[in-house]
Amino acid sequence: MEDSKKDIRALSKEELITFFESHGMASFRGKQVYQWLWQKGVHDFDLMTNLTLEHRELLKSHFEINHIRIDVQQKSKDGTIKNAIKLHDNLVVESVLIPTSTRTTACVSSQVGCSLDCTFCATASLKRMRNLNPDEIYDQVVTINQQSIYYHQRPLSNIVFMGMGEPLMNYKNVLASIEKITDPEGLGMSPKRITLSTSGIPKMIRKMADDKVKFGLAVSLHSARQEVREQIMPFAQKFPLEELLESLQYWYEFTKKRITFEYIVWEGINDTREDIQALVKFCLKVPSKVNLIQYNSIDNSTMKQAAPAILDAYIKTLTDSRIQVTYRRSRGEDIDAACGQLANK
Ligand code: SAH
Repeated sequence: MEDSKKDIRALSKEELITFFESHGMASFRGKQVYQWLWQKGVHDFDLMTNLTLEHRELLKSHFEINHIRIDVQQKSKDGTIKNAIKLHDNLVVESVLIPTSTRTTACVSSQVGCSLDCTFCATASLKRMRNLNPDEIYDQVVTINQQSIYYHQRPLSNIVFMGMGEPLMNYKNVLASIEKITDPEGLGMSPKRITLSTSGIPKMIRKMADDKVKFGLAVSLHSARQEVREQIMPFAQKFPLEELLESLQYWYEFTKKRITFEYIVWEGINDTREDIQALVKFCLKVPSKVNLIQYNSIDNSTMKQAAPAILDAYIKTLTDSRIQVTYRRSRGEDIDAACGQLANK
């Protein structure tokens, strides 16, 4: 019966080995299957040519191979490629390839939709439908890596968890996917090239530090004033800035990794002296840098990016306080592939 078959990609290497052993077969067969699935990215048992017919039939009678498919691909004038990715249950997430002259970055999703309610983000309108499995996250990276090689003749240099969803609300699966991305028998990428972006969940930031993760951390801060932050990121009522800061100090203490604060400046929301001073004060409490990001407007929103003079004031004040600041211009805007614009349009 089709429905009763398990997704073979949910099995660890050890479980694959045990499967063959329990059928009286050599354990190295498990390792071979693992390599077909994860190193060679094969989605058909019949392509696993170093297995005998008997092995393949046995696998087919027990398992199916779930995998993602590119549903729609859109290319931006600036080279950015947005993929609508169809999952085995027909839900759709988005993954983006962002090329610059020096790097090619994959922006991947961790959930279908999102349970957070940031007023400025398009994904918030989708609600959270489900978490992605480790292999569904991993597959996005493999797919984007293939696109990078095909279109830019080079493999991915960086991966950011900045697509749909809140990665720390799907922590276990995100971590498992990163394990495969960094595993020499998977993609073998350095964790230093991976950044997880979170809206800021203190308990989970501490957990990451305890788990001694090796990747980088970015926090979507957007305001260092509690009353302002709550207004644009309502869930922040549950996670006061004070608590967030303590968790970030804990993170730094154990990882020695500087934190990146993502920050958008909006007219009439966080464009005063007081807002700038609050950010400076916050940044001085934990080793960090600020990434000012361009606001990408979303449907039905009246929010507007602040004038260049305000951004300049942010940049000058931060720099004067010796806080590193960069201003990131958006990519892929013409195809709604920019930050916060992923909403399965
Ligand atoms: N939930 C995670 C990761 C997804 S959002 C997080 O919040 O960090 C990835 C980044 O896009 C975040 O920094 C988010 O604040 C930003 N973003 C969301 N909506 C945006 C918009 N409309 N314009 C620009 N950036 C946006």
